Order: sequence, then structure tokens, then C-alpha cells
Amino acid sequence: MYWEKDLETLPREELYELQKQRLQKTIQNAMRTPFYRRLFTREGINPEKIKTPEDLRYIPFTTKEDLRQGFPFDFLAVPLEEIVRLHSSSGTTGTPTVIYHTKDDLDRWTNQVARCLYMVGVRKNDIFQNMMSYGLFTGGLGMHYGAERIGALTIPIGAGNSKRQIWFLKHFKSTVIHIIPSYALLLSTIIRGEGLDPRRDFNLRIILLGAEPHSEETRRRIEDIYGAKAYNSYGLSEMNGPGGAFECLYQNGMHIWEDYYIVEIVNPDTLEPCPPGEPGEIVLTTIFRDATPILRYRTRDVAALIDEPCPCGRTHRRITRIQGRTDDMFIFRGVNIFPMQVEKVLMNIPEVGTNYRIVLERKEYEDTMRVEVEIKPEFFFGDLQKLERLRERIADELRAEILVTPEVVLVEPGSLPTQEGKAQRVFDFRRL
Ligand code: ADP
Ligand code: ZN
Repeated sequence: MYWEKDLETLPREELYELQKQRLQKTIQNAMRTPFYRRLFTREGINPEKIKTPEDLRYIPFTTKEDLRQGFPFDFLAVPLEEIVRLHSSSGTTGTPTVIYHTKDDLDRWTNQVARCLYMVGVRKNDIFQNMMSYGLFTGGLGMHYGAERIGALTIPIGAGNSKRQIWFLKHFKSTVIHIIPSYALLLSTIIRGEGLDPRRDFNLRIILLGAEPHSEETRRRIEDIYGAKAYNSYGLSEMNGPGGAFECLYQNGMHIWEDYYIVEIVNPDTLEPCPPGEPGEIVLTTIFRDATPILRYRTRDVAALIDEPCPCGRTHRRITRIQGRTDDMFIFRGVNIFPMQVEKVLMNIPEVGTNYRIVLERKEYEDTMRVEVEIKPEFFFGDLQKLERLRERIADELRAEILVTPEVVLVEPGSLPTQEGKAQRVFDFRRL
């Protein structure tokens, strides 16, 4: 049931002591990096005074921009010859952010991932098909080594190439997959197109969903399509990658390993701490990493802290599902909207297919929002009047959730653009 029982169920007071120790070590370590040395000097912070998680509040936040500007070595705390690997976030524009790892860092990260996998029931006899991209992206290698450590047969198939994915699923009877949720939906339509049934023709039991925000409704849909349990896996390259926070068998929020990180949730406007239950931006401090210590990293991901104990017995606290990123929230006619709110509504409507997108435009000084929704073939090619009623229903349900009425356009299945990587949901043409 546990990979490391003592650590996973460590009483909270002891966990706190461990955090204190590791934080102090991390601060010493951070003082070896040019970035934090400069920051502490500039802010007049005495590193010896930072002893407890509460003391972190004296330190300014670190942002993605800081990491970018610190390229290549401003965050490095160990000599270069100690580094055995680097990872870098997707960074579609500008300088990517680079995270360095020592051998020990990688070993600990692998252990962290093994803990997560074991928690949801992955075992030695499993066949693990890792459908995340290998390379700089952490989802591939990060999860790979964790699965190997458990002893599962780990297939490094990587992302995309759906026909090959299906061939492996069918012939190796993979029992566990690691996949981006939007791709899990897309892949299911390709599977059916090949005349196969994802429940009957495969042997899946566990699906690990990570790398992009997705709603509870999407998870249930994926579970239903594949006839397997799906667990939410959250991570970001700045904080290692997969293994950051992970659901247990109860599927009631994601445990953050607090012997690896100190977690804070802050209001993104005031930067004040949010009480448990109130969503805000996740801020993380690494306390178990040597090469690249990062203090109070603003992840830009929005979630709430869950303070209640979990029935699984693990004492590490949980966060809710990620509601979105502060930078993917858009403002339409003055209302703040997360794409996830739209997704939640759509994925709850049985006639809706597997893809959608939100298009924002400016017409004659007025902003418009159009939600294009793929409809399952049996409904799309059916009765036109029924289709119109469905369209109205979708618009009504969206209005109830986001408080504005978007234009809703129902489209043929398979007609919207797809991505094999993280899905782009919002197309904002207003600024052009
Ligand atoms: P980038 O920041 O360039 O996308 P990463 O590969 O490090 O690079 O992606 C990490 C981000 O992916 C997280 O900050 C988060 O926004 C998103 N993400 C990862 N896993 C999840 C998840 N399970 N739920 C929601 N969002 C996720
Ligand atoms: Zn739990």
C-alpha cells in the first residue's frame, strides 16, 4: 500500500521538523547560487534567520522570468561536474528555463515518482506504456525511471504516433499508461476508427493523466472510455516534473510530498496566503534538491489547499485539481474566465465529442467569444432540430457557469485542430 510507509505517514509534527532541517540546508545551498546571493544581499535578509517554513515569508517570490534571466547558471548551487542531467520547460517563446540535477537529485526524484506510482497500485508485474514525450520535457524520463524503479516493464514509446500506440496497447496488453488528457480523448477516437474497442481489446487498468489542466468530468469520461481508473498527476519542470503532486486511490485531491517541497497557496493579486479551501496560486520551495534550489516559486497554477486528513493515511497535505493557470485565464467583457470552466460544462454533456476550442475576437470594438464544440457523429448527423436544441442547451449551461453568453457553434467530429502535446484551448485574436 505504501512505497515508504514511515515517510508517507510521518506524523505532521515530525514532518514539520524534517521540513525545518531540510529548509535550513536548502537556504545554505541557495547561498551558493549567484541569484539568491544577490537577492538576499539586496533585500538585506540574513540567511541564518530563515529557519522555519513560516520564515519563508521574508523572502521574495521567484518567478519564471527570474529563471529565464538567470540563464544559464545563476541558479546553480553545485560545481558543473556534479551535474548529470538538465531538463528544460517547453518555453515556446524566448529563453527556456533550465533545471540541473545531480546524481542524487535524480535518485530522489525517481523515488518520488515511484512513491506516486506505487500509491495508485502500479506494481512489478505491470506493463507501463509511457506516452509522454522523451527528451527535455520531464514527463517522459521522469515517469520512466520511477516506473522502472518499481520494476514495471516500462515501454519508452514517447508521445504521438497513434497507430503505433494502439499496436503496443493491443499486442503488449499494457496495463498502465501515462498520457496527456486531451490526447487520451483524441486517441480513443482513433482507436474506434481502427475498429477497436478501448475496453474490450485492451487490458488497461491504470491511466495517469498529467501535463495539462483537465476537469473532473474529463477524467470520468476517460475512465469510462477505457474502462480503467484515471489518476491526476501534477508537476512542472522547475519542481522536477512528475511526482510533484499525485492523487491516491481515493481520487480526492493530490498529495504534495511535503518532505520534498514546502507548499504555499497565495492570492495572485495581493500575494497574501489563502486559507485552506480558497483557491490561489501554488507557490513551491524545493527542500530536497541540491543542484537547483528554488525558493517560493510562483507556479502560476491555481488550486486550493485541502487541510483535512486523507483516509489513505498519508499525512502529506493535498491540493485540489488545478483550475487553470493565472496566465491562461482570460477576461471577457470584464468577467474572469478559466478555460477549465468551459471544459467542465462541455464534458458533462453526453452528446459532446472529444474536442472543443474557444475563439475570442474583436469585431467593431466589441469582443466576441465563440465556443466551437465537436459533437459525436450519431448526434451531429441526426435530426437538425434536435441539434439546434442541443446548441441552445450548451449555451445556457455555459452561461450558468461563466456568466456571459458565448456564441456556440457545433461542428463535425474531427474537424477542430488537434495537438499531440498539450492542447491549446483558447485562441485569442483580440490583441492582433
Ligand atoms: P511549461 O510551463 O512550459 O508548460 P512544463 O512542462 O514544466 O512546462 O509544464 C508544467 C505545467 O503543466 C504546470 O505548471 C501546469 O500548468 C501544467 N500541468 C502539469 N500537470 C498538470 C495537471 N495534472 N493538471 C493541470 N495542469 C498540469
Ligand atoms: Zn490519500
